[in-house]
Amino acid sequence: METYTPDPFLPVDENGYYGPYGGAYIPEILHSNVENLKKAFSRYIDDPEFIKEYEDLLSQYVGRPTPLYHAKRLSEHYGTNIYLKREDLCHTGAHKINNAIGQVLLAKRMGKNRIIAETGAGQHGVATATVCALMGLECIIYMGATDVARQRPNVERIKMLGAKVVPVESGNKTLKDATNEAIRDWCCNPADTFYIIGSTVGPHPYPQMVARFQSVISREIRKQLKEQTGREMPDYVVACIGGGSNAAGAFYHFLKDDNVRLIAAEAAGLGVDSGESAATIQLGTEGIIHGSRTLVMQTPDGQIVEPYSISAGLDYPGVGPLHAYLAKSGRADVTAVTDDEALKAANTLTRLEGIIPALESAHALAVLDQRKFGKDDIVVINVSGRGDKDMQTYLSRMSSTEEA
Ligand SMILES: *Cc1c(COP(=O)(O)O)cnc(C)c1O
Repeated sequence: METYTPDPFLPVDENGYYGPYGGAYIPEILHSNVENLKKAFSRYIDDPEFIKEYEDLLSQYVGRPTPLYHAKRLSEHYGTNIYLKREDLCHTGAHKINNAIGQVLLAKRMGKNRIIAETGAGQHGVATATVCALMGLECIIYMGATDVARQRPNVERIKMLGAKVVPVESGNKTLKDATNEAIRDWCCNPADTFYIIGSTVGPHPYPQMVARFQSVISREIRKQLKEQTGREMPDYVVACIGGGSNAAGAFYHFLKDDNVRLIAAEAAGLGVDSGESAATIQLGTEGIIHGSRTLVMQTPDGQIVEPYSISAGLDYPGVGPLHAYLAKSGRADVTAVTDDEALKAANTLTRLEGIIPALESAHALAVLDQRKFGKDDIVVINVSGRGDKDMQTYLSRMSSTEEA
C-alpha cells in the first residue's frame, strides 16, 4: 500500500495509521461527524487566519512561550545537563490548554455550540471548561466518579467556570469510563456537539490533530535550546505518557532527528507485574479502544483490564497509536515508573528547584533515577503540569515516608 504523509513530521498515513496502529473504528452514526472534522482540520490547520487566532491566544492567554529552564541544582545532583520545559506554567496549570484552544477554535468554525469532553485528573476538564467560558459555549464534562472524589479542586474549578460535571458510575469509574460516556453522548447528539478529546487517542483525525496542537512545545524547545546552548538538538527528550499528548508535543519536531533519543515514561503503578499497573505499552496487546487500533491492557478474550496508577492522568488502559508505533519501531524508549519512584522524583525536584510537579510529570522526572546520563548530555524533560491538584496525595504519602 502506498503511504501518504499529510503531516510534515508524524509517521501517519491518510487514513490515520501509524504502522498498524490508529484508524477510525467508530459506529456508523458518527461517520459524517468524523469526516466533517477531518475536512475542517485539513482546511484550517494551515489557514493563516486560523493559525493567527490560535497563536495569539497561546501567547496572550496561555502565556506562551513557556520557559525552557536550565535546572542547575538538579543537573548537579544527577551529573548531567537538565532543561525543564515548563508546561506547568501554562494558564490552568498544564499543557492540555494548548490543544483545547485549537479544538474550540475548530468547533466555532464548524458552527458547533455544544462542547463535550472526558477528563481523568480533571486537567482536560478544566482546560475545556476554560476555553468554553472564553468563547461563551455550553460545556459538559464526563468524569469517572472515582476521579470526581480524588480530584476535588479541579471539579470545583470546572463548576465555577460554568460547565456541568457528569460523574460516571460504570466500570472502575475512571478515565476509560468517562470516555465511553462522552462517546455515547456524541452518538446521541451528532449534529450540534463537538467532542474535544484531551489526548492523542480516539479515532483519526484526533491523534494527529492533538499532536499538531501540542507540537508548539517542541517547536519552542528547539528555538530556546539554540538560544541558550547554541545547539538546537538535545541528546534526550523525556516525557510521561498517559494517552500521549504532552509526549507527542515534546517529541514532534524531533521525530525525524534520529540523534535525539526519545524516552516515554508510563505508569507502572505498584509494579509492571503487580496486577496494579497502567504500563500499557509493556502490558498491552493489539486491540481497539475508543475508536482506534492500538496497544490495550486486555485479557486474552478482549476484556479491558482495569489500570491502576497513583496519577489520575496516567490511569488509562490504552495509549495513543503514535506512541504504540514509536515504541514498537524502536524510535522511542519506553520505561515504566512506579508510584513510589514518581513520588521520590517529585520530592527531589521540589527540594532542589522549588518546583512542585504534577504527579504525571513526576513520572518523567523519575527517569533521572533510572538512567545514568553523561556529563555532557543535554536532557530535556517536559514538566507537563503543576502539582497543586496533587497536594492531598503528596502530603499523605510523603509524611508517611518521612515517618518511616
Ligand atoms: C493529562 C495529563 C497527562 C497525561 O496525558 P498525556 O496526553 O499523556 O499528556 C500528563 N501530565 C499532566 C499534567 C496531565 O494533566
